[in-house]
Amino acid sequence: MTIAAATPLPALPGVGERLGRYTVNRVEDLPEMQGHLILLTHQNGARHAHVVRDDDNSAFGVTFPTVPRDSTGVAHILEHIVLMGSQKYPVPDPFFAMLPRSLNTFMNAMTSNDWTTYPFSTRNEKDYFNLLGVYLDATFFPLMRYESFRQDGHRFEFETPEDPTTELKLQGVVYNEMKGAMAAPGAVMWRAFGKALFPDLTYANNSGGSPGDIPNLTYDNLRAFHAAHYHPSNAFFYTYGKLPLGRILDEIEAHVMSQFQAQTLDVSIPDQTPFTEPRQERVTYPGSDVERGTQVSVMWKLGLSNDADANLRWSVLSDVLLGNAGAPLTRPLIDSGLGSALADLSGYRDSFREGAFAVGLKGLGAGKVEEVQALVLDTLRAVVQDGIDPELIESSLHQFEIAQKEVSNSGFPYALGVMFRLLGPWLYGGDPLTGLRLDAQLEKLRADLAAGKVFEPMLQREVLDNPHRVTLELAPDPELVAHMAEQERELVQSLSADFTGEDRARIVAESLKLKELQAQENDPGVLPTLALSDVPASVPPVPYSTEQAGRALVARVPQPTGGLTYLDVQVRLPELPGDLLEVLPLYTSAVTKSGAAGQDYVALSRRMEAVTGGVSASASSGVRPDDLHLLRLAVSFSGKALARNAEALVAVMRDIIAAPEFTRERLEQLLKQRLAGLKASVVNSGNAYAERLAAAQVSPAASIGETWGGLSALDRLKHIVEEGGLDDLLDRFGRIHTLLLSGQPVLCLTATEDDLKLNLTPLTDLFTADAPVGHPLPRPRADGPQARVTDSPVAFNAVAFETVPYTHPNSPALLVLARLLRSEYLLKELREKGGAYGGSASFDPREGVFAMSSYRDPHILRTYRVFRDARAFLDTELGQREVTEAVLSASKALDPLTSPDTVGRLRFFGDQAGFTPEVQEAYKTRLLAVAMADLKRVMDAYLTPERAAYALVAGRDPNEEMNELGLSFTVQPV
Ligand SMILES: [Zn+2]
Repeated sequence: MTIAAATPLPALPGVGERLGRYTVNRVEDLPEMQGHLILLTHQNGARHAHVVRDDDNSAFGVTFPTVPRDSTGVAHILEHIVLMGSQKYPVPDPFFAMLPRSLNTFMNAMTSNDWTTYPFSTRNEKDYFNLLGVYLDATFFPLMRYESFRQDGHRFEFETPEDPTTELKLQGVVYNEMKGAMAAPGAVMWRAFGKALFPDLTYANNSGGSPGDIPNLTYDNLRAFHAAHYHPSNAFFYTYGKLPLGRILDEIEAHVMSQFQAQTLDVSIPDQTPFTEPRQERVTYPGSDVERGTQVSVMWKLGLSNDADANLRWSVLSDVLLGNAGAPLTRPLIDSGLGSALADLSGYRDSFREGAFAVGLKGLGAGKVEEVQALVLDTLRAVVQDGIDPELIESSLHQFEIAQKEVSNSGFPYALGVMFRLLGPWLYGGDPLTGLRLDAQLEKLRADLAAGKVFEPMLQREVLDNPHRVTLELAPDPELVAHMAEQERELVQSLSADFTGEDRARIVAESLKLKELQAQENDPGVLPTLALSDVPASVPPVPYSTEQAGRALVARVPQPTGGLTYLDVQVRLPELPGDLLEVLPLYTSAVTKSGAAGQDYVALSRRMEAVTGGVSASASSGVRPDDLHLLRLAVSFSGKALARNAEALVAVMRDIIAAPEFTRERLEQLLKQRLAGLKASVVNSGNAYAERLAAAQVSPAASIGETWGGLSALDRLKHIVEEGGLDDLLDRFGRIHTLLLSGQPVLCLTATEDDLKLNLTPLTDLFTADAPVGHPLPRPRADGPQARVTDSPVAFNAVAFETVPYTHPNSPALLVLARLLRSEYLLKELREKGGAYGGSASFDPREGVFAMSSYRDPHILRTYRVFRDARAFLDTELGQREVTEAVLSASKALDPLTSPDTVGRLRFFGDQAGFTPEVQEAYKTRLLAVAMADLKRVMDAYLTPERAAYALVAGRDPNEEMNELGLSFTVQPV
């Protein structure tokens, strides 16, 4: 949302008013988000919530309570199959095919333990109605082909599908997905949690599907589940934005409502019968770390989660007890030294009809159940006895207020965040308004807190005195994988025991038929699409003012921030010696989590929680729009606070920038956490590491990126942590701090007009020394193809090329080329044919690096052949449709979804770096004119074997097989 020329919002209907066959039941103000909530019901029972807000990102979602009675995964499999073709759009994969034909800001579908939802959002009106049509047709009129059920549900298939003498196997997308999911401790914990606390309810089932039960799902059961649940009488519709409600309702009426009669379906979930005494449960997951792989969690069933008062109180209490490293429940548990971290799912949960609270430890050996349980109970008793520090409660309420007021699209569209807040109480029969407006509940809580203790008696009554308690142990079982494979073999055997020759012939025939269907192309003519003329050609202006304050440049951006103040302090760094440059991200990650100005890290973190919504720091490098080799380094500090605390935010940021205090002990803790995180990320993000390693060979900016966030950063950190480099690091931090204060500061303040006059001198005053801004030019590391070997059954392959800077006329064609290769070529060749989990092409126009990579890939040589043959692919039968879709998709990258918290700082810092609206508009104009000939031309010019840089992360040495391509890799362990 920008404040440019506010369009008038549509007029609100009155309560009782009829809109077609809908009746308006309620109209409520939403003062904190400057909007309104309209609740309606349709004659046939459909419920509809519409939020009117001056936000150009409009949203839709339809949600169905889906309450499975078994663990066949019917709700999850249905979610997959609904997306595989519908009456009006009978193509194999309409959702996937819509992605490049739309300017959507979000498209997805999700299955939870008792509901399934289909949401999207977009800023384009035509796109909104295109997607609305596709979503309504998919959910209410899916084809649910038998072949789709076989492909994504379950089926028998011979090892060699056309040969009935080979081994018979169970297959299916969801079947395999759940086999994988049930191997992850987090997912096993989540299933066990619901089953342990609510053994008599739907939560005892695995809504995703248990591999042993999925084969019991029949095609008829699936269709019956759809007919019963995906019906208007069981639907909760949600719409958001400033498009006219009448037009949306007319569309839903014509497409869906007119086709259905009211029906009744009982999806209500009863109360769980309370336990009369506490229980213990044990579950296992496949794992071999018996020394440290066990978790123990103590959990309680609470009252109804749709009770707005109780929900708010439990959310606050949970944050008070567990919200940070120094919190009264967290700290004693961690300091006990029993485990290394809190157990998964610790805290309050409102995702069941009745609430739950859990806490425990992970990183345990076997046999710790009694010890952890006693520690948890003793600690809770001590909290009740000693009382909770009122300041902690105040800090939590303050964080709550920020969360309620903040309007942000960072991470997830706000338009859909509102839907999930409202669905919480709504689906369980509560008041949806309480999900969006908590003022009444907050007022009551504050009054009760003023009158006496609230949380201590609550803990005593609902937790300590509550016999509905389960102590759950989640333990690794090294034999489980073999055991599960054995179970699967037995299952196949028992299901196929009386198969005749005819049955076997049918399985072969069905396999072949499925292959045939999979080879069919989407007929794109059936689906609606946007045209290039729908892409906004201009870059909307964002007003701000600037002033000079000493050496500092200050921008002030007026935005409707809902009463929050956002502050960025970017410091452009002077010339940095290499030994400081390489540890800059360690400095920025530690500086906000350590002490400052005489306060230790616990005191500083409590102060930050009391007056800010968080302060973070980061290091960045940038190049000029017209020169890839003119680099600039900066450290940025960003913070936010309620406007009434803006001065306190300035003071906190000043202390962190001017007087950070690092201690050896705290730094060691932080670096160890960072190292554990980086190590774990290699097997999940191997493609990103490989890409960085390849790009570092050709691009100076990417070379810095690799030093900061690549495998060499992991190496350096390992060295510091494991070989005693801490004192040296502390010394380097001291030198970074001195150089930082001689840098050139650029500040950006974003707030509502009334809050913009904030005094920033405490910050601008800090930068008195005068050093010229540095322009580092690290040499790309032209050291040939690189392989890093790690413990992984798969490979991550990458190739990178340095191309041209942003303002070069060929840049837009490279951006389009990346999109085209990804969707039309690499996904098919690497994923569908090659069996890799993913394949991608990317182009970062600001860094000028073009890369192709594969994700969780069984192949190395084959994949590099596919990369090499990309040029030949451009000469195959590609038409205007493919190019247009690639241009549409590329244009989305140029128009990221912003919000009041980000739009101003993006504009201002972009302008400062030379990426002005004029420069961006010129880029867009060129982008919209890109044609097939341009793609071939830029590929011939820049993506040639001579310019390519190679890197991979894999479980094996690639050299023998890669000889064939004449490539020789330097091999090192990760
Ligand atoms: Zn799935």
